[in-house]
Amino acid sequence: MSAGVVIVGGGQAGFQVAASLREAGFSDPVTLVGDEPGLPYQRPPLSKAYLAGKTEAEGLSLRPMAYFADHRIALRAGVRAVAIDRAARRVRLGDGATLAYDHLVLATGSRNRPLPVPGADLDGVYQLRGLSDADALRTAVETARRIVVVGAGFIGLEFAAVAAARGLDVTVIEAADRPMARAVSAEMGAFFRGAHEALGVRFACEAAILSIEGAAGRAVGVHLSDGRDLRADLVVVGIGVLPNQELAEEAGLSVSDGIHVDTSLATDDPAISAIGDCARFPSRFADGLSHDGRVRIESVQNAIDQGRCVAARLTGRAAAYAAVPWFWSDQGRYKLQIAGLGGPSDASVVRGGGDAFSVFRYRDRRLCAVESVNRAGDHMVARRLLGSSVPLTPEQAVDPAVDLRALAAA
Ligand code: FAD
Repeated sequence: MSAGVVIVGGGQAGFQVAASLREAGFSDPVTLVGDEPGLPYQRPPLSKAYLAGKTEAEGLSLRPMAYFADHRIALRAGVRAVAIDRAARRVRLGDGATLAYDHLVLATGSRNRPLPVPGADLDGVYQLRGLSDADALRTAVETARRIVVVGAGFIGLEFAAVAAARGLDVTVIEAADRPMARAVSAEMGAFFRGAHEALGVRFACEAAILSIEGAAGRAVGVHLSDGRDLRADLVVVGIGVLPNQELAEEAGLSVSDGIHVDTSLATDDPAISAIGDCARFPSRFADGLSHDGRVRIESVQNAIDQGRCVAARLTGRAAAYAAVPWFWSDQGRYKLQIAGLGGPSDASVVRGGGDAFSVFRYRDRRLCAVESVNRAGDHMVARRLLGSSVPLTPEQAVDPAVDLRALAAA
């Protein structure tokens, strides 16, 4: 009997390959191995509705238990894959079992980058990645009064918005000169800074955290590079992620900030693919952004589309991965939507104004990304334009008389 497909990582990407394989009529065994307990679940609500207590854990599951049995997906939850024997095509699990595969998919995701300062291990210091982190934070905000958020990225800011809405005292520390500096334009960063300040959030930008101060094992404050000391009974660290690539690296596959894959998402070993947060893949959206023309993208869209792409290849419909990247972040009453990939030196033009506008970003006069706040129509058009060869000049982008929808449909 065929050994079928083994998927390591029971998150968004891993689940998607399994589901898409069955949708495509794949009939060989499919095994999904995940080190987190329980059913595969969605992470985005962990820093949004779930954190705010507006949805419960059952509402996060990607599918109910019955789905896995009905679709003959063998779910091995709560167990880690610890080694790959490529010659024998076997994966060893932490509980001593081994699984044979015809094809192995690595969907191991990413983990939070640790904060390298004294005091980072004190009680009262949190990071947010999984359901258990979100549960701990939900409990901690019940009694917290003064919160310091380290890192003004998406997760730190989403958390800040939820905490400020509860009336808590929140200060966000950021090493760059503005929020979300790596991911969005100066215009969008400034808008969101203002939106958070209107909620009462304070910012300490161009400041680094040097240490977290403790008393009786608990965080009581932070010490900053600009000499300031801030009191805090809760410190939330959101300073980016690291790809979970060690399993691949130890098996001799190429890695560097992610597991290297080709345009079809296969690793150096044609019997092994890698997808989602852990995969570094060639992309035209990386032109001018990365030294090797490859990117690693941390988003639900990327995880789902890459899962579908690998399932299509394994069922005889191979195609290069070419999806337009897109992303969203909910912060307070604002939804930020991004299509494409922007970089720090891109030029920007703005369409619209007030609290409903889009920033069109250009690299070498080519549209490379569009950031929209409260302009869902622009976002949808941007995804179509970025996926097509229809050019949009910066002059057209800012001109309200230009019908973007008609242009995208052309
Ligand atoms: P993951 O979801 O991380 O899944 C990987 C799984 O593999 C994990 O369960 C991990 O524990 C497991 N694993 C790792 N190694 C092993 C091993 N050796 N053996 C077994 N299992 C293993 N994206 C958006 O587009 N929009 C958002 O608003 C948004 N909000 C987010 C909010 C939060 C709080 C977080 C944490 C992420 C958010 N993201 C958002 C990002 C998005 O959730 C990720 O990009 C997506 O989950 C990536 O899917 P993945 O399957 O690649 O990785």
